[in-house]
Amino acid sequence: MHRIGFGYDIHRLEAGRPLVLGGIDIPHGAGLLGHSDGDALVHAIIDALLGALGEGDIGTHFPDTDARYKDAKSLGLLGTVAGLVRSRGGEIVNVDTVVVAEEPKIGPHAAAMKAAIGPVLGLAPGALGIKAKTAEGLGPVGEKRAIACYAVALVRFPD
Ligand code: MG
Repeated sequence: MHRIGFGYDIHRLEAGRPLVLGGIDIPHGAGLLGHSDGDALVHAIIDALLGALGEGDIGTHFPDTDARYKDAKSLGLLGTVAGLVRSRGGEIVNVDTVVVAEEPKIGPHAAAMKAAIGPVLGLAPGALGIKAKTAEGLGPVGEKRAIACYAVALVRFPD
């Protein structure tokens, strides 16, 4: 049996904050605001995996009212969720994502993001998609005030 899950996240960009996206540090003049490191791409993947399990969302598992998750590395939270998938008998087949950002350019960083995220999920580079779009100047993402991310995950369970 297979189940798919879908995840979405958006975080504000704040000048002077380090930019952590896709599990890597990206040199940029602004970073994503959040209780954790603000990694919206990893958060979207977490929600896709939890969706495939039918077990709530990132907010129920890692509440932003919990001091343990203040400035938490999202990649570590992703590892926890990957462990949850395994504990439910699931095996992640593939994950595909879209990052919507006006800047910085995401494409040049996609390989490094795959190298950071893939091992956490046990996925080869060919089973992890990271695609980049701009918002064509429209809305908060287009105005460089936020970065939005979408993710789908396919999980296989024993019959
Ligand atoms: Mg988030």
